[in-house]
Amino acid sequence: MSLDVRTRRPAVRGLASGLGWPSDSSPGRDTSPLGWPAEAAPTVSRETEADEEARRQLASVVPQADDSTPLAQELAENARRRIDLHGRRFPAPTRTRVITVANQKGGVGKTTSTVNLAAALAQAGLTVLVLDNDPQGNASTALGIDHHADIPSIYDVLVDGVAMAEAVQECPDIPGLLCVPATIDLAGAEIELVPMVAREMRLRSALSAYLKHRTASGEPRLDYVLVDCPPSLGLLTVNAFVVAEEVLIPIQCEYYALEGLSQLLKNIELIKAHLNPQLHVSTILLTMFDARTRLAAQVADEVRTHFSEIVIRSTIPRSVRISEAPSHGQTVMTYDPVSSGALSYLAAARELADRSVSGEEGR
Ligand code: ATP
Ligand code: MG
Repeated sequence: MSLDVRTRRPAVRGLASGLGWPSDSSPGRDTSPLGWPAEAAPTVSRETEADEEARRQLASVVPQADDSTPLAQELAENARRRIDLHGRRFPAPTRTRVITVANQKGGVGKTTSTVNLAAALAQAGLTVLVLDNDPQGNASTALGIDHHADIPSIYDVLVDGVAMAEAVQECPDIPGLLCVPATIDLAGAEIELVPMVAREMRLRSALSAYLKHRTASGEPRLDYVLVDCPPSLGLLTVNAFVVAEEVLIPIQCEYYALEGLSQLLKNIELIKAHLNPQLHVSTILLTMFDARTRLAAQVADEVRTHFSEIVIRSTIPRSVRISEAPSHGQTVMTYDPVSSGALSYLAAARELADRSVSGEEGR
């Protein structure tokens, strides 16, 4: 099984797709994957030199701990990360990045990663939209968003063609974080979408119209759109692959982690070939890493060997605080911002944001 997706990118950059996707070579225009011209990046400032120096000095007084005291080592590491990351503003991408979080394997941390990365990016000054594209509605719950049966939701957008603007809600805890919730109705959408015209394109058309609506009504540009997927490769996931340019795959650091991955990559290749030539796996995030087991380290090593630099350096530890947060209608970023889980998601979000500046984005 060749897992190196970086070498499998087809030569499609610069080609008009025939599906309305912009070619990269369109002169003088920096366009989004949705055919929407990018505005000038909003002024999300980088840190000043003085801020950086203050962080460096603070971090230098954190005591060093050796391998013999893992707890002290973890505390010191958390203190350093807190000093380095808290209150830092992340750079805005030059255009809206639409990232689908997918893995047909269940329970690998898709929803947890979607909501916590989204929260971390929003807390760092960016405008972020989460599309809850899973009938379980777990992302809506974790963001504290109302999603009972009568609420306008992604089902209405996909099946009834309701404008996305009518279904968008603001996350109560985090300014700049928006969500289109999922209700239980969405469970029927897989079947209801089947006879529809352009059934794979419906989410993309809806998001494209919403981005235009935001610009027309003077609302700030969205920096990130993160799409949470169900654990299947049905029409809902296909819609999520068609709306995005990037795929983020969370991989749980456990046995069987890589099983099913080749099927997922094959499906992404198919979507790329037939529906969305821009689609590529830009990011892999290792989740539920348990430093006490050798197995977790082995899985992490294997994934890094296959996927090299698209794997985010910061792994997400298995953490009770992360799993408790949704029952309080919160992400771990507000539930316990100083926990190692929150700091890991913050570090991962920073890497994600920095990649759009360095132009890596998995290419
Ligand atoms: P599904 O395929 O059902 O949509 P998923 O891939 O979205 O699942 P999550 O719902 O994010 O996975 O996570 C599965 C379970 O594991 C949840 O109960 C969640 O709280 C827990 N969990 C996720 N990440 C962590 C972590 N780092 N530490 C501890 N528990 C975690
Ligand atoms: Mg989920």
